Amino acid sequence: MRILEKAPAKINLVLDTLYKRSDGFHEVEMIMTTVDLADRIEISPLKSDEIRIVSENRFVPNDHRNLAYQAARLIKNTYHIREGVEIYIEKQIPVAAGLAGGSSDAAAVLRGLNKLWDLELSLEELAVIGAEIGSDVSFCVYGGTALATGRGEKIKELPAPPSCWVILAKPTIGVSTQTVYQNLNLDKVEHPDVQRMIQALHDESYEGMCEEMGNVLEPITIQLHSEVEQIKSHMKDFGADAVLMSGSGPTVFGLTQQETRAQRIYNGLRGFCDEVYIVRMLGTRSLLD
Ligand code: ATP
Repeated sequence: MRILEKAPAKINLVLDTLYKRSDGFHEVEMIMTTVDLADRIEISPLKSDEIRIVSENRFVPNDHRNLAYQAARLIKNTYHIREGVEIYIEKQIPVAAGLAGGSSDAAAVLRGLNKLWDLELSLEELAVIGAEIGSDVSFCVYGGTALATGRGEKIKELPAPPSCWVILAKPTIGVSTQTVYQNLNLDKVEHPDVQRMIQALHDESYEGMCEEMGNVLEPITIQLHSEVEQIKSHMKDFGADAVLMSGSGPTVFGLTQQETRAQRIYNGLRGFCDEVYIVRMLGTRSLLD
């Protein structure tokens, strides 16, 4: 038996940090939603008791550093499974982009192994296991749209965002999430209004959603990498209604409801960035069926 899973990227409509906790993590409030740019994960049983990671993408580690590997090892150890698997990762999501590519791969492996080994775990149980691998894995187990609190592992489902086009642009720079958080001065942060964004989603208001987008990490990454600001201003010039950096960056996304404008933004950005994508928001948990 071979299991196929899609591992979609996420974007942050809101990313707020409240305070630094005693365990070193920041207490966050994030609103995340999945987009239809997805890695494809193929899981096949092996005769030998090992976890083998295969990917043609040279930026994807093929050992214990891979979050998909860590997901398989955790499930194997927790449920005392003595069988091996090969996990093939067809990478579509840019690596180290702020789009949770690795976390989504890990979540897809949790869902896939749950099926392969008939573990009959609920998504809630998989999300708890996922939190041990990384803060974004719990959200990725469900996909769709959600408010994530705690260090990102407490998930509350939200209505899907109004339908729109999303243009993603990733400059060719590496951003260290750790460095970004180290430079975060909570006294100087301008907090986005999470409750107003939740209201906009309930009201199905595209304008409200655009107005309430915010990410406290954006000014810090911009200070470190001015390219992010340049991409933002190009996106606005080409007609995006709202523009924001996702996660700790460096990917910037812009929104529009008009297909011709989406194409114009995409074409315009391709002059500045190697990696540009036009995608749709998925919004609901549909990919997981
Ligand atoms: P997040 O938005 O959750 O902070 P990200 O999109 O910024 O994540 P990833 O694409 O997950 O970042 O990659 C971050 C690092 O993790 C990479 O440099 C890579 O070495 C490592 N990594 C581990 N597993 C994977 C994976 N399955 N796919 C891609 N990178 C992975």
